[in-house]
Amino acid sequence: MGNRFQAKDRFADGAQYVDGRLRPGTSDASHTVVDPATGEDVLTYQLASAADVDAAVAAARRAFPAWSAATPGERAEVLHRLAGVLGERAEEFARAESLQCGKPVKLSTEFDVPGTIDNTAFFAGAARHLQGQAAGEYSGDHTSYVRREAIGVVGSIAPWNYPLQMAAWKILPAVAAGNTIVLKPAELTPLTSLMFAQAATEAGIPDGVVNIVTGAGREAGEHLVGHPDVAMTSFTGSTGVGKRVAELATATVKRLHLELGGKAPFVVFADADLEAAAQGAVAASLINTGQDCTAATRAYVQRPLFDAFVARVAELMRTVRLGDPFDPATDLGPLVSHAQRDRVAGFVERARAYATVVTGGEIPGGALAAGAYYAPTLITGAPQDSEIVQSEIFGPVLVALPFDTDDEAIALANDTPYGLAASAWTRDVYRAGRATREIKAGCVWVNDHIPIISEMPHGGYKASGFGKDMSAYSFEEYTQVKHVMYDNTAVAAKDWHRTIFGDRS
Ligand code: NAD
Repeated sequence: MGNRFQAKDRFADGAQYVDGRLRPGTSDASHTVVDPATGEDVLTYQLASAADVDAAVAAARRAFPAWSAATPGERAEVLHRLAGVLGERAEEFARAESLQCGKPVKLSTEFDVPGTIDNTAFFAGAARHLQGQAAGEYSGDHTSYVRREAIGVVGSIAPWNYPLQMAAWKILPAVAAGNTIVLKPAELTPLTSLMFAQAATEAGIPDGVVNIVTGAGREAGEHLVGHPDVAMTSFTGSTGVGKRVAELATATVKRLHLELGGKAPFVVFADADLEAAAQGAVAASLINTGQDCTAATRAYVQRPLFDAFVARVAELMRTVRLGDPFDPATDLGPLVSHAQRDRVAGFVERARAYATVVTGGEIPGGALAAGAYYAPTLITGAPQDSEIVQSEIFGPVLVALPFDTDDEAIALANDTPYGLAASAWTRDVYRAGRATREIKAGCVWVNDHIPIISEMPHGGYKASGFGKDMSAYSFEEYTQVKHVMYDNTAVAAKDWHRTIFGDRS
C-alpha cells in the first residue's frame, strides 16, 4: 500500500473548501487530526468559524440557480466524471481514510472507496430518473401534474465512522437532484470529505455546488443548522446530538433528515446454521472496529444453540488479527480515538458488575499500546435492561443473550429505543417472514448482517431517525414536489365560483 498519506502537504492551503478552493478556517480554535493507530499528529488545521460557514452558504446560494437549472443529463455527465476521478484516486482515498480513522486498508480499499465510487455512479444515473407523478384530469375542469424541484442550499453534518461514505451519501443525492450543499464532516476526520470536494471540482462540478466546512459541532455545526439561507438539514450522528439539531432546524422551519444511532439485534433461531450465524456475528459486530451504526450488537440466540454459539463466537473473535491498519494482513484497527476507546472500555468495565466477559475486555499492550486498540469482546449474562444491552457502545463489543420462544425473540429485538437495522438467522421461511415484518428497523437482513447496496435505502425507525440515504428513495428528502394545476375550461365564471357568487343557475 506504500506510504501513509501526507496530509500536511495536501492541505497546506487550509482545510475549508469554499467556492471550489481550499482556504484556512478563521475560528480562534484549531484541531489536530491524530492517527489513532500510533497517536501521532497527522494535520493541525484551523477550524471553521461562523463567518466561514456564512461564506460557504453564500457560495452555495450563488451556485444554486445555474446548477438547479442544469439538465439532468448535464448533472449526470459530471457525476459520471466524478466516479471516474474517484476511481483514478482510489488508492490515495483509501490511504487517507485509513490514516484518519485507523481503518485497515483491507476495509477502506474493499469497502469504503469502491462503495463510494459505486454510489457516485448510481446517482449519476439516478439524476436522469427524477420525475413527478404522471399528469391527469383529476377534476373534470383541470389538468394536474407534479413537478419535482430542488430545495436550495442543503446543510449537512456527518460523523467520523465512515467519513468518505458519509460525505458521499450526503453530497450525491443532494447535488444529483439540483441542490447545492455545505457539508460539515466530523472534526476528527476531515481529510476525505475535502478530497471528495476537490475531486468534484476536477470532474467539472461548478464552484460553489459542493462546499466543506471543517469545524466544531457547537460553533460551525449549530451555525449551519440555524442558518436562514439553508433550506434543509441532513444530519448523521448520535441520537443525542440529533435531538439538538432537530430543535435548531425546527426553529427555522427547515426540512430535516436524521440518520441517528443504532443497537442492532441479531436473532438466531434454533433451526439456524450455527456456523453461518457465528461467523456472521463476529464479522458484523467487529466491522470497522464496531463503529458502525448497523453493527450487530445484541445476539439473541434460542436456548438449544446458545452455548455452542457463545463458544464458537469467542473462538472466532480470538483469531481476529489486530494490527497496523496499513498492513494488508490486519483484520481490525484501533478505534477512531483514544477517547472513544476509553468510552468503550468504560462500558465493559461497568458491565463486569452484572455480566460475564467471555473474551476480550482488554486494552492490548506491546506493539499496540500506543494506539487506540481494544480487544474483540463478547459478553453474556447481562439483563435486558442493563446499560450494555440498551446503549450504543460503538466499539468491538457483542452481547449474547438466550431466548426461548419466537414471541420473546421479537419482543427483545424491539426492546431498545433504536430501530436502524436487524437480522434474523433461520432456515424456516415463515419465521424469517415474521421477523422481517415484526422487527421495527429500517433494514432487516435474513441470514446475513451488514451488506448495503446503492440501489436500496438506508435509514432508521424510532430513535434511529427518519428519512433515507442512498437509492432513489433519498430523492424524497432532497426534492420537494409542487402541484401544478391548469384550468381547461377557459370560462370566466367557473362552476366552483358558486360558493362566492351565490346560485347562478
Ligand atoms: P456525533 O453526534 O457526536 O457527531 C456527529 C456530527 O455532529 C459531527 O460532525 C459533530 O461535529 C457534529 N455535532 C456535534 N455537536 C453538534 C451540535 N451541537 N450541532 C451541530 N452539529 C454537531 O456522532 P459521532 O460520534 O461523530 O458518530 C457516531 C454516531 O453516528 C453514532 O451514534 C452512530 O450510530 C451514528 N451514525 C449513524 C448512521 C446512520 O446512518 N444512522 C451512520 C453513521 C453513524
